[in-house]
Amino acid sequence: MTTASTKDKPKKLTPAMQQFHRFKEKYPGTVLFFRMGDFYEMFYDDAKLAHRVLGVTLTERSKGQPMAGVPYHAVEAYIARMVKAGHRVAICDQMEDASQAKGVVRRDVTRVITPGTLTDEAHLESDQVNTLAAIVYHTDRQVSLAWAELSTGSFNIATLPAETAADELARIAPSELLFCEAADNQTPKHIQTLIDTIGCTPAPRPGWQFRHGEAIEILKRQYQVKTLQGFGLSDDDPTLAPASAVVHYLLETQCSSDTGRLAHLYPPRRFEQQNHLIIDQTSLRSLEVSQTLRSAQTEHSLLSTLQNCVTAMGKRTLRHWLCYPLCDREPIEQRQRVVEALTLDSRFLEDLREVLDTIHDVPRIIARLAVGRATPRDLVGLGKSASSIHKIEHLLDERPTVASYHERIKTLQPILQSLADQITTACIDTPPAHLREGGLIRDDFDTELDEYRSLQRDSHTWLAQYQADLLEQHDIPHLKVGYNKVFGYYIELSAVNRDKAPDAWTRKQTLKNAERFITPELKEFEGKALSAESHAISREQDLFAALTAEAAKHITDLQAFADLIAELDCLGCFALTAVKNRYVKPTITDDPVLIIEAGRHPVLDQLLGDQFVPNDTHLGPQSSSPSNHKIDSDQPLATLGLITGPNMAGKSTYIRQTALITLLAHTGSFVPADRAIVGLTDRIFTRIGASDELHTGQSTFMVEMTETANICHHATEKSLVILDEIGRGTSTLDGLSLAWAIAEFIAQSKPRTLFATHYHELTTLAEQYDNVTNLNVTVREWQDQIVFLHRIAPGSTNRSYGIHVAKIAGLPDPILKRASTLLSQLAVSHEGAPPTPSTPELQNTPTPITPQEQPATDASDAQMSLFSETIFRDHPAIEQLKELDMLNLTPLAAFDLLRKLHEQSLIDPNS
Ligand code: ADP
Repeated sequence: MTTASTKDKPKKLTPAMQQFHRFKEKYPGTVLFFRMGDFYEMFYDDAKLAHRVLGVTLTERSKGQPMAGVPYHAVEAYIARMVKAGHRVAICDQMEDASQAKGVVRRDVTRVITPGTLTDEAHLESDQVNTLAAIVYHTDRQVSLAWAELSTGSFNIATLPAETAADELARIAPSELLFCEAADNQTPKHIQTLIDTIGCTPAPRPGWQFRHGEAIEILKRQYQVKTLQGFGLSDDDPTLAPASAVVHYLLETQCSSDTGRLAHLYPPRRFEQQNHLIIDQTSLRSLEVSQTLRSAQTEHSLLSTLQNCVTAMGKRTLRHWLCYPLCDREPIEQRQRVVEALTLDSRFLEDLREVLDTIHDVPRIIARLAVGRATPRDLVGLGKSASSIHKIEHLLDERPTVASYHERIKTLQPILQSLADQITTACIDTPPAHLREGGLIRDDFDTELDEYRSLQRDSHTWLAQYQADLLEQHDIPHLKVGYNKVFGYYIELSAVNRDKAPDAWTRKQTLKNAERFITPELKEFEGKALSAESHAISREQDLFAALTAEAAKHITDLQAFADLIAELDCLGCFALTAVKNRYVKPTITDDPVLIIEAGRHPVLDQLLGDQFVPNDTHLGPQSSSPSNHKIDSDQPLATLGLITGPNMAGKSTYIRQTALITLLAHTGSFVPADRAIVGLTDRIFTRIGASDELHTGQSTFMVEMTETANICHHATEKSLVILDEIGRGTSTLDGLSLAWAIAEFIAQSKPRTLFATHYHELTTLAEQYDNVTNLNVTVREWQDQIVFLHRIAPGSTNRSYGIHVAKIAGLPDPILKRASTLLSQLAVSHEGAPPTPSTPELQNTPTPITPQEQPATDASDAQMSLFSETIFRDHPAIEQLKELDMLNLTPLAAFDLLRKLHEQSLIDPNS
């Protein structure tokens, strides 16, 4: 973080620069935007930083005093860029009219903008959440978290086991993390790791802000209560410390410390992990719930595929629902009932979406209202939104499935309708962006304002008449009476006529082709007109302030309204997605089963359309399969499905789609399938693909094993586990042994699991365990080509088709030929033919492209058995290696031997 370096500051400072240094000290760690006239100026290191980050020109105010400035009217865009680059910005404004100031202009910092405390529209995407979090570690291996969104007022607290902090913070995704500063000013290592993992801005805060006594006081002041018991907070609640840090920070950044409160901040809501299906950060990422793995973009994520909300708050809530699925049957079924009602009545759905579409981003408007930065458009938007309440009430009336929503609306209706009426009668429909020139309040609303306005209007008539009179009196061609903001009213003569001006006129301004004059009469008129205008503007500002104060009185009701609208919007979005994409309502059951008929991957289904091949999933213990769970599938019921098949066949897609369908079912959404029975799930675990955790200093294999250890420790019979290619990050034998042992462990502990693997050897587990089944992804061969059918079938396969896939990927021909030769040679010497794959379905399938559809039993495509060393058994190198005296072998001798073996081309056993 930058500070103004004062090492090169001139000894004698101007009064303005003295002010600058005072504020710089008061707001350490911020880039100070210092208002001077029409510019915000930055000095010293701040100026250099602005030059680098914003690309603005670096100049010198005086020798050795770097300076850079941005025009005041464009400041929001520059602030946004600075904050996006991870810096904090303090805005220092002029608190009085510079022309009226005696001595140096009074200035003060009016707001501090940080990555986690954004509220202005210019800084925020409407569907993005922007959260600030605080963390406190306790001695009993627990952590307490508090997190708030200033732009909506949401505020949550939680105490969790320390080892889950990273996962929970990943779901919260804060932009800034507050923690207690250390005595040595260094960020503690465990906090630094969290910050690196989440990718947020660190914010060390003074220790006193985390103290309990302080916490209780500030929270009582914030909520204007005598005790915090009403919020379920006892005096020794561990979440008080981070909650206090959050409130302190918000007050400081909003410069509201004098009022001691932020009106729109909800009381802290305790987050209970057990009320939600748990998905750790790895799973959220690898399932591409809110962004894709490769590009880290929202496009092609689950969220973007489902995103059919029409309101900004609905869009944000949908993201929340997907990251925090439910885990109890009743609330899930409650959402399902509304979604179903909407899918069955297209008129209802259409009408609902139509009214929702008229509702503005109410939570963010309320936040701006609370921090005193609401605009005329915000106010009018709020009025329009509130006035839609009667339409919604009417729409929900007499529909039993939405009765609870209707009740909530009815309670809010009188207050919001009255507020809406006040705003809409006072304000015009298309308000200006700001109040600098007025133009918000309707005519005939306020007599005082009307008077000023009529004075202004009359002045137009007076001016026209004055110009006509002058023309008549003086007979000067092209004489004009005009006005501009800088010079006020004037009489303009063209240059050729300038000498015709009477002596009584005073010259005001000389232009290239014209001369401007003023007369005593015009001067007097100017005084009246301008004061009418400024009176009108200030009257409008008063009326605006009164209206926003009125709206601010109803913040709690407006928030309740916004919450309700967001929920309805998400349910409407689920319904629309279900109708558009042919989703079905999943049956939610307490049995630990997962039965999906013709399931589809929600994202690929949209991208590929009819090309996407649906697949069944049949997971669960045989004992818990009541007859109504039976569906028409050729897959046996098992808790562990081992999936083999070549690369590119669709294994990952299949296991991910199963996890995504489970997740969606727990949000109350319908799911992409023909039929689904989803047993309530406590956690979804995934171990998929290569991780990008390298920045945390862990090897890919270490990450893989850590994630797998987490699964083995925590998966229960109610969990869903998705494993892809365990053991790839180490040597083949190590990998196979680990994968085998892990599969055995899972077979015994029985979470519902899909395990995609290249290790064909694992498929023998199905012979040992009743609850393990083998599945494979079918492939057909056609001449020299292979065709991926993407169909999951019972049984295993031992074919990898690696060379075919390499060919599709464009590997040069000579390499492909050489690889084929090597494969034949390796396979010929491979001891024991590979077991004939048990894929009856595949073998019996009639096919339009026939010839060689059976799974390969020929050597050329066989996957090598990893427990065999046969191919090298008779190799001359083996003899030499056997004879080595390892204890007495020097590194040099070892190297020499290696060189000799290499020279003998021992890679090729035929040599
Ligand atoms: P694997 O994990 O077996 O290597 P993937 O699941 O990554 O294979 O799938 C590879 C590609 O195959 C996908 O990108 C997709 O284009 C296609 N694919 C996978 N499953 C299906 C399916 N069920 N229907 C149609 N295409 C699919």
